Amino acid sequence: MTPEALRQQLEYYRDLGIKQIYRHMPIPNISNAIELPSLVPAGDTLDLIRADIGDCTRCRLCKTRNKIVFGDGNPNARLAFVGEGPGADEDEQGLPFVGRAGQLLTQMIEGTSAKEGIPLKRADVYICNVVKCRPPENRTPEPDEMEICGQFLFRQLSAIKPKAICALGSTAAKAILGGKDGVTKLRGKWHKWNDIPLMVTYHPSYLLRPYNQNAKRESWEDLKKVLHFVYD
Ligand code: SF4
Repeated sequence: MTPEALRQQLEYYRDLGIKQIYRHMPIPNISNAIELPSLVPAGDTLDLIRADIGDCTRCRLCKTRNKIVFGDGNPNARLAFVGEGPGADEDEQGLPFVGRAGQLLTQMIEGTSAKEGIPLKRADVYICNVVKCRPPENRTPEPDEMEICGQFLFRQLSAIKPKAICALGSTAAKAILGGKDGVTKLRGKWHKWNDIPLMVTYHPSYLLRPYNQNAKRESWEDLKKVLHFVYD
């Protein structure tokens, strides 16, 4: 862990109210690492996580946001979708995926389920983003912003314990899986986050571009796989 990452993690624990951590005695020839407490407090719930976020100023995105977009949907969902970050409509309303991309996501969830004979509505799943505040001009969140806010995402996913996660787009996939590969390489096959199967597919805003017909077809295929895995 780099000194900067360690500093951020310690600040995060301080924000959670953890005042002390213990450093193990050095053992000769063994790395002198600091053991950190679990990132997920025992008995964690979405309400506790939202309360911990509070009126968050932990990263620079707080300066330009309008509303924190925590997440929305069924707290006991069997399927969770994770996008990159809020856009203008989401920032305005404080809800994830409510703009054009969000409408497409709703159509994808409800339309594909109906075609596949699965009685599923958008309200049955959980939807959130890696960062909870809108990046200015809809830029991609910076790695440090994702590292800080990603701790809340990981707590959300751990509290919900869905049967599967669907990461929407390269940024969400990289933030959760930690690698460098983009959506074209990762999509269509199962990965794992903390033993939870995870599918990567295109972000709906990418699918809104008129020349992305192939990607549309592929993402419908990805979604069918996810829906049958979770609800069959
Ligand atoms: S993006 Fe996350 S960490 Fe940054 S200010 Fe918003 S809630 Fe806090």
